[in-house]
Amino acid sequence: MIIVMKPGATKEQVQHVIDLVHDFGLKDHPIYGTDRTVIACIGDKRTVDKGAIENAPMVDRIVPILAPYKMASTEVKRTRTQIEIGPERFPIGGKRIGVIAGPCAVESRDQILRIAEAVRAAGCVGLRGGAYKPRTSPYSFQGMREEGLEILAEAREASGLAIVTEVISVQTVDVVAQFADVLQVGARNMQHYPLLEAVGKTNKPVLLKRGISSRIEEWLLAAEYIINAGNPHVILCERGIRTFEDYVRNTLPLSSVPELNDKTHLPVLVDPSHGTGHAFMVPAMSRAAVAAGADGLLVECHNDPEHATSDGAQSITPKTLAELLPVLRRIAQAIGRDL
Ligand code: PEP
Ligand code: MN
Repeated sequence: MIIVMKPGATKEQVQHVIDLVHDFGLKDHPIYGTDRTVIACIGDKRTVDKGAIENAPMVDRIVPILAPYKMASTEVKRTRTQIEIGPERFPIGGKRIGVIAGPCAVESRDQILRIAEAVRAAGCVGLRGGAYKPRTSPYSFQGMREEGLEILAEAREASGLAIVTEVISVQTVDVVAQFADVLQVGARNMQHYPLLEAVGKTNKPVLLKRGISSRIEEWLLAAEYIINAGNPHVILCERGIRTFEDYVRNTLPLSSVPELNDKTHLPVLVDPSHGTGHAFMVPAMSRAAVAAGADGLLVECHNDPEHATSDGAQSITPKTLAELLPVLRRIAQAIGRDL
């Protein structure tokens, strides 16, 4: 439920209500707006004496939160959440659209430093690259791991880009968080609840990809796990879902972007690389994602896609990336945003 305070409620009056909420065994999440304060209360409502709360000074009303995901819902917070990433604190979720690009996997120091330079020059805000790779086959390249993280950190120093890299296990959350600016939780791990709780205990923004066959409600409940563990900095990333269709690697449902913008205040990115599986489709789906209202893109970009250790077929070249960003900028401007 949400307790809506009257405009002008003092700090002490808000604290009094928070104390009452605790007395009833609920967790409080106050949200201080410009006009009024609301207190979202999470927990078992059966023990709550609503009358007692309603009678407290300066309480306006109590309204139920209908969505099963509470803190992620626009019912609790109507203003869009902005999440600052990287050394330059670029805000994802604001007026400006942010593009994060880079290879699927960190393959070598030379590769990452070279791509980072191109990604920065194109006008992107973040560098992606997996140091720990969740591969379908145990015989495929599993990533450079800690060495890969060190290379990414060096690329951040050189470029100023935010480093986005995947964390695939609870045991490696600390080491990844030590090097990365944004912790990516991949599609395969969207429902790995102990991992969601572990990244929820860090202070790093989390990029949460949609599970390969997850519904939006399940995805937002996964985001809720992270927020409930103490980390409100969750960025959602639509990366396509598995359907019967096989001309694409995944089907990229761009209608999830307006749906998410309606149901959650969290920023939404689109990954047109995993969302299609084909490099030639990436520019068109990137343009469409920006037009649909995405806050940014996560794009795979490789200087030598033919020799990539993973996902070469869906990786665009630095040249294509450089040509794409000015086009995206024009689309952003046409819908009142910028890039
Ligand atoms: C990736 O970003 O390289 C990746 C493994 O993506 P996903 O989790 O969406 O499959
Ligand atoms: Mn990939």
